[in-house]
Amino acid sequence: MKITPTEQKKLLELANLERTLDAGLRKQLPEDAEVTKLREQADRKRSLAASAQLNVADLELEIRRIQSDMTKLNRRISADKQGLGAATDADQRRDLEHDLVSAQRRLSDMQQELKEAHDEIHALRANVDRNGAELDEIERKLAAAQRAAESAQDAEDSKDRSGQAAELRVHISAEALAAYDEQRAIFGVGAAEFTGRTCGGCHLVLPPAALAEIRATPADEMPRCPDCGTYLVRR
Ligand SMILES: [Zn+2]
Repeated sequence: MKITPTEQKKLLELANLERTLDAGLRKQLPEDAEVTKLREQADRKRSLAASAQLNVADLELEIRRIQSDMTKLNRRISADKQGLGAATDADQRRDLEHDLVSAQRRLSDMQQELKEAHDEIHALRANVDRNGAELDEIERKLAAAQRAAESAQDAEDSKDRSGQAAELRVHISAEALAAYDEQRAIFGVGAAEFTGRTCGGCHLVLPPAALAEIRATPADEMPRCPDCGTYLVRR
């Protein structure tokens, strides 16, 4: 079978294209890069949202601790006041008054702490809401980008199949195409590059006798791999 070196180059291009399509390999498109970027943004935002939520939980715990301490202090203050109503002993009264003052001072400090904690938790909850809203927004964009990437990929695939492959086939003789298609139907690869020692179809390093035969094949004919039958296109 005669096939010009130019046709052989086109056939190799066709074979490589059809192998990529058969393997279902995706070509990286700008739309895919956008999906990757948004996915990373979503991951970052999700971890920020999680730590904001954790901060709220920590502070809620702190507020409950302050409230429980305040309940205890209020009980202590009531007990001191009751004690003062009944105590007549001067030392005992002095101890109770001392304790009452310190409990009241501590209670007032805790009221301040509670107020600050409430202000802070308000800000933290706003932060949680904002992160959540931003995450929703990113996820909406991500879903849209994924749809865009899918249709871009579909368009690319159909362009590849019906367009590029057909475009390449135009430049190759019917006889060569028939031989290629037949071999492709048998082995899955119709033609492959010959790198000097190895068959690009089955990746075997060929024995010296086969190499000599391949080298001796005229430039306008295509040698075949003695093992898998793939047509070999020499560089
Ligand atoms: Zn082979």
